[in-house]
Amino acid sequence: MIRRAGLIVLLLSCWLGTAGGYAAEVHNVRVWIAPDHARLVFDLSSEVQHKLFTLKKPDRIVLDVSDASLQSNLETVDLSGSPVSLIRSGSRNGGKDLRIVLDLKEHVKPKSFALKPNDQYGHRLVLDLYRDVAPEAPQKTAVASADDPAALRDIVIAIDAGHGGEDPGAIGPGRVKEKTVVLGIARELNALLQKERGFQPKLTRDGDYYISLRSRTERARKMNADMFVSIHADGFRDHRARGASVWVLSPRGASSEMGRWLAQKENSADLIGGVGGVSLEDKDDVLAKVLLDMSMTASRSDSRDIAHSIHKNMSKFAKMHKKQVEQAGFVVLKSPDIPSILVETGFITNHDEAAKLKSKAYQRKMAEAIFAGIKAHFSAKPPALTWLAWQKEGRGAARATPSSYKVVRGDTLSVIASRNGVSLSALRKANGLSNADQILVGQVLKIPAS
Ligand SMILES: [Zn+2]
Repeated sequence: MIRRAGLIVLLLSCWLGTAGGYAAEVHNVRVWIAPDHARLVFDLSSEVQHKLFTLKKPDRIVLDVSDASLQSNLETVDLSGSPVSLIRSGSRNGGKDLRIVLDLKEHVKPKSFALKPNDQYGHRLVLDLYRDVAPEAPQKTAVASADDPAALRDIVIAIDAGHGGEDPGAIGPGRVKEKTVVLGIARELNALLQKERGFQPKLTRDGDYYISLRSRTERARKMNADMFVSIHADGFRDHRARGASVWVLSPRGASSEMGRWLAQKENSADLIGGVGGVSLEDKDDVLAKVLLDMSMTASRSDSRDIAHSIHKNMSKFAKMHKKQVEQAGFVVLKSPDIPSILVETGFITNHDEAAKLKSKAYQRKMAEAIFAGIKAHFSAKPPALTWLAWQKEGRGAARATPSSYKVVRGDTLSVIASRNGVSLSALRKANGLSNADQILVGQVLKIPAS
């Protein structure tokens, strides 16, 4: 029997009176919207057995929950932005079991599972609805000559705001949540990197939804990220605990992850080595191990370099937990080919630090410290065929032969001149330009030898 929610709630409460109660109650429904999926969380009074199946024409998802009743109004659930047009409920087996039906607006792949109680919530039943999302367009690959900077790629920084959605992370005074604070810092960092030529930041999450730890690193790989930075805030029972910290992968974490990659290399299409990387699939065990080892060693060295720089920047205004960069086996740090760091921006459970972390100004300060560390590292050690590498070479050695430059949006003649280490007048002369300095996007300028 399927009816609209309001009526069913009424009916169930009547039955409750006569039947003497149910084993489990569904007393709340929360919805979290991510770009690629929607998560519905049903709060339960106790553990339940459930079954999930789909129906066609029209597309529906059915969740049968044994020995349960609904004690929540499904009509008040906010479904905006979700693939669900309507949630209805009904009862089965003479009112003993609960059936929840979701009418769909689009095709999704459903997945359901139970969650055990944590600090925040009790027993939960989770329903994830995965959308058919087109894979991200592959990044522009640098096949152009180093003389054509417009074709060079940017350095991609994956910015990972920890937690999200159902997972609030640490919680501080006044219910301030880690997931909110770290998203604020991640967005500040994103804005800073967006303004910086040669960098392209990408957020693993840009909203209040949960991403599993492994899919955070997978996202970074899909982005062809040159670096991954995960942003967190600590929590501890003892509210006196304070201090920020910067983390890289521990040697033990690195070796266990190498083992995992080698064990699954046969059935993994994953690449190592970043952009244009190599696949381990067709390599014999010895070669695969060597390649993986080289990649991991290089990544960890870069990670330490960036982490050290960020630690130094942060220590100028924040109390640091330790004098050095720390090491742990955090899952998000385990990409063998992407330098990865994790920043704990302070203890949200500490009164003073929570107050700071909540403020926009302090979030920006944190983001600036991280930004400066990233910029310093990549300016000194830019990956090949990036705009930053090109700029570094151009500045370092005088050019033997004149080259050219294609004007992009936002360029001015004086910026192009200074970037290429030539005088404005020489640049004008080489291109027959007047003092009006009018240049057009797409125009190719001759850059005279400096
Ligand atoms: Zn955290």
